[in-house]
Amino acid sequence: MKIQNDHVVEINYTLKTDGGETIDTSDTGGPLTYLHGKQNIIPGLENALTGKGLNDKISVRVEPKEAYGEREDSLIQMIDKSQFPNFDEMTVGQQLQVQTESGHPLIVTVIEKAEEGLTLDGNHPLAGINLNFDVEVISIREATTEEIAHGHVHGKGGHEH
Ligand code: ZN
Repeated sequence: MKIQNDHVVEINYTLKTDGGETIDTSDTGGPLTYLHGKQNIIPGLENALTGKGLNDKISVRVEPKEAYGEREDSLIQMIDKSQFPNFDEMTVGQQLQVQTESGHPLIVTVIEKAEEGLTLDGNHPLAGINLNFDVEVISIREATTEEIAHGHVHGKGGHEH
């Protein structure tokens, strides 16, 4: 069986920066199960897995445009402290959910704290960097009709509905 759209695929993986620093690995979080062809995972990794078989191992380097995008300076903003009721307790590195001007939720990271307010970065933490994956395919099966309709995996490693 070769991986194609509407297959449920389970992988072990290690994700590293270009410098060799481990960002994430299934050694700690367990294998990742996803529905192929539904953009459950970043496009660069999904494309690399198309056509691969059980127990295949691949190493792939994914550039930002096929992962979490480039960093955008426009997503870094200084916000006045009057906007934060608990300003005094807030710290650099903290993440919070804000609303964009168009009303969408956005996760931002506090990157600087000054007397007058906070500098918030709305870029994805992995934006702008190359991602180096070592991946092993550990199971492949056909998705159920329901999984295809929902666009995600049910049962083990997936959603509970
Ligand atoms: Zn579902």
